[in-house]
This record gives sequence, structure tokens and C-alpha cells, in this order.
Amino acid sequence: MDKVDVLIIGGGISGLASAWWLARSGLSVEVWETKKRPGGKIMSTLQDGYLTERAAAMVLNFRPEVVELVRETGLESAKTARLPTAEARRYLLHQGRLKALPMRMGAMVASPLWSLRGKLRLLAEPFIFSSGRADESVSEFITRRLGHEILEKAMEPFIAGTLAGDANQASAAAVLPRLVALEQRYGSIGAGVLINRILRRRTACTTETFSFRGGMSTLVETLSKTSGINLRTGHTAEELVREQDGWLATASAPHGQRTVSACHVIVATPAPAAAALVASLDNELAELLRGIGYAGVTIVHAGIARGAVGHPLDGTGFLAPKGESAALTGNLWMSTLFPDRAPPGKVLLTSYLGGARAPQVADWDDERLMDETLRTLRPLVDLKADPEMVRIDRHQEALPAYHGAYQARMHAITARLQHIPGLHLEANYRGGVSVRDRLACGHVVANHILGARQWPSVERKRREETANSGGKAVYPMDSMDPATE
Ligand SMILES: Cc1cc2nc3c(=O)[nH]c(=O)nc-3n(C[C@H](O)[C@H](O)[C@H](O)COP(=O)(O)OP(=O)(O)OC[C@H]3O[C@@H](n4cnc5c(N)ncnc54)[C@H](O)[C@@H]3O)c2cc1C
Repeated sequence: MDKVDVLIIGGGISGLASAWWLARSGLSVEVWETKKRPGGKIMSTLQDGYLTERAAAMVLNFRPEVVELVRETGLESAKTARLPTAEARRYLLHQGRLKALPMRMGAMVASPLWSLRGKLRLLAEPFIFSSGRADESVSEFITRRLGHEILEKAMEPFIAGTLAGDANQASAAAVLPRLVALEQRYGSIGAGVLINRILRRRTACTTETFSFRGGMSTLVETLSKTSGINLRTGHTAEELVREQDGWLATASAPHGQRTVSACHVIVATPAPAAAALVASLDNELAELLRGIGYAGVTIVHAGIARGAVGHPLDGTGFLAPKGESAALTGNLWMSTLFPDRAPPGKVLLTSYLGGARAPQVADWDDERLMDETLRTLRPLVDLKADPEMVRIDRHQEALPAYHGAYQARMHAITARLQHIPGLHLEANYRGGVSVRDRLACGHVVANHILGARQWPSVERKRREETANSGGKAVYPMDSMDPATE
């Protein structure tokens, strides 16, 4: 039977990122992925010259770990930065038309998007008391601090468009952690932003939005080919058995069963699959995982001749509040965002439908999806002809809904894991859905495992690297933060 330091179940970006941080430090890592290809939800497809994304289309980064990973994987040269035209604007659907969304406090107060009453309510924000509640929904938190208009016109479409969630159910602490932290620390969001600006408090790296040449699959392919990572596709984990100082795991594999012995196991699958795997170890943990709901999302990619679109497409795209659009939550102008997403003289518009707002969309056929998408887009971007390329991607369980008392559920999961040493849960229902958060959380779990005991292979790599650099090497993990999970 093969022995590995760490077995990772699930070859999506969460599993691959954890694998990369561990392998970089010298641990032996095996990744089991049930499908024939790695990447999970992430998949870039070139169709008729248009580069489409099935899930993540870009990384919005402000974390130094992500910068480090991109640099060390050699992906820096494959990065494509957001084009300057797309930086200019984000649009919001308002009274049947696209209106530029104000991005700064001053512009926000002056914007015609809000009524005079809404603006006065916004200005009252610094004088609003904290509710003292840890379990407020996004709707409760935003209405209390900024008023109902900001919720309805800005925050509801943001939660629906970026997280497929429902602002009435989404946990404010889970999905708006930075705004909630500003209230907790300074008593006000506006005051907090101002104080941070005056003190020039910034994150350790600048914010940037990027993708890669060849799309997000480039990141997946690079991580899965890293030396030290043994990726086995077509392997479905079926059983986890605890041993005296490690784990025995069994998968159904293309040529029968595969069983490996591992010191640590990271389960990097969506919550329902994780629940099935841990049920025999801890039923309470399995129940907590089963309680995490998911929302479906359908994506309609439309490739159109530039001349057939009257709108200048001078921004990232638009978000649609539920009062304005029943099924379509947002539309990204991919060819404005990044180069080479559409052939010359063409544009690529990507629409997102469904989510918690309109679960019925999952049952629509292609014709109905196209009708709804074009009916919504036609007047907004002045569409004069039908698309020449259409691609539809469907996710039944696209994103975990960070709904209800989510933080309490996460704390309970962490508490259960304390009793199962060597088992880790690392996927997008824990710590954020974005690729940025996935890469950063992979760093945290790797640190945790590396700090758990002495690893001879890590020591060996450290000695080799020190010798190769004439004794001057700084071992990568020396510079990392203490482990916290
Ligand atoms: C439509 C959409 C748009 C998005 N846009 C963005 C964006 O622009 N920017 C951004 O940062 N994020 C975006 N995201 C979020 C991001 O893409 C996802 O959160 C992330 O890709 C999820 O990665 P994951 O590894 O946690 O899960 P997954 O991708 O679901 O991977 C889990 C893997 O586990 C495997 N698996 C399951 N069970 C088993 C088993 N028993 N044995 C072995 N393998 C198993 C699955 O096959 C899968 O490959 C978007 C998501 C969606 C759906």
C-alpha cells in the first residue's frame, strides 16, 4: 500500500491550492479527483474564437499569499490584467436603464441613483448604534446602517450577482466581514473607512483584478502539474478510516480500488460529499455539513459582432436588483475586461441567471434561457442582432449559500474537527468562495499541517535548499504566519 504525507480529496481550486503549498514545502501529496479533469467548477473553454469561463472568470486580489503563489508558480508572465476601459465603470440596472454605480463615498451621496431621503439616511450612518447581534442578515445590517435604498439598489444585487445568495438570508458577518469589522472597531462604516484612509492603513499588497492567458484553467493546469503533487483523476473517495497515527482512505478508481495510508487528509469537496465521507467518523459533523445549502446558477455566454451592440461597453458590466430583473442577476462584459476573450471586431457578454433569487431557472431549457437573456439585454446594451456564438453552462450546486447563523455553524464545525486530529475540511463553504480566498485558505491549512509535527521530508528539502544556495536560503515556511485554522 502506498503511503503519502497528505491525501487531498477533491481536485478543485481549494484542493489544488492546498496541495501546492504543501508540495512546495517538501511534503508528498496525492490528490484524488472524481472527474476526468482537475479544476472542479473552474473550466475555460475556447469556442469559435471566444474564451468562456464556466465559473471563476477573474481573481480580485489584495492578499500577499496570492501574489506569492502566482510569482512562484511562474504564472506572473501568463497573467492578464483587467483592461483600463473596464476599470472605469460598474453599472447598475435602475428604472430599466443602466446607470454608473458610484464607487466613492462623495460620488455615492451625489448620485441620482438615490432619493433625497435615501441620501439623508446614508449621511446618518456614523450616528447609528451597533445592534450588538452577531447573527444579523445582510438585509438587517445594511438597512440598519445605510438604509433600505442602499440595500435594495446596491447590496441585494451584489449578493445575488456575486454570491447567488439572498440578502434576507445571507449572514452579514460571513459575507460582509470587512464592513462588519469596521462597525465593530470604529462604530461606523464611514468613519472606519475615513480613519483607515487618514492612517493610510492598507492591506499588505495593492488590489488588482486579473486572469490568465488561456483563462482560469491556466491556473488549474499549472498547480496540478507541480512537482510533488500526484494528481489522480477518476478517483472517487469512498471511505476514510482512522488509524493510530493517520488515515486509511479508499477510492474507486478506473482500474478497481485504490487504498492509501496518509498522515493527514484534507477533504476539499463540496459540503454534501464531505458529509458523506465523514458520516462514519462523526455524525454531528456530517449533520453540520448537510445543513449547508447551495444555489444553482446558469451562465449564458453570448458572442456578438461589435457593430451589433450600441452601448459603449465601457465598464465591467452590470448588476440587476430583483425589483428590475426576475431571473438575470448580472452581466459581465468579458471582452472589455480582458484581452483575447473575443475575436477582433466581436464582443463577449456573459449573463448569470438563477441563484437563490430564481431557483426555477435550473429547469429552463436552452430556448427559454436565450429568450430571457436577450429580452433583458436588448434594450440595455442596444442589441441590434442575435449572437453568433452561444454557450450555456449550468451548475446545479454552484455556490454555498452563506445563509442563516453561518458563523455559528462554522465554529461548530471547527470544534468538531478538534476531536479528529489529522482531518481537515477545506472548500469554498469555509472562508470565502472567491479564488483569492481559496488560495489563501490553502496556505492556512498547509501551515497548520506543517506545524503539526516534525516532517523529515520538509527537513530534507530545507537542507538541500540551504546547501544549493551556499547556506543563505530562507526556507519559505520560515516567513509564514503561525498556523490558525
Ligand atoms: C458561476 C460562477 C462564477 C464564479 N465567478 C468567480 C469569479 O469571477 N471570481 C472568483 O474568485 N470566484 C468565482 N466563483 C467562485 C469559485 O469559482 C468557486 O468558489 C471555486 O472554484 C470552488 O472551488 P472548490 O475547490 O472549493 O470546489 P469545486 O470546484 O466544487 O471542487 C471540488 C472538487 O471535488 C470533487 N469531488 C467531489 N466529491 C469527490 C469525491 N468523493 N472524491 C474525489 N473528488 C470529489 C469534485 O469533482 C470537484 O472537482 C464563481 C463560481 C461560480 C459557480
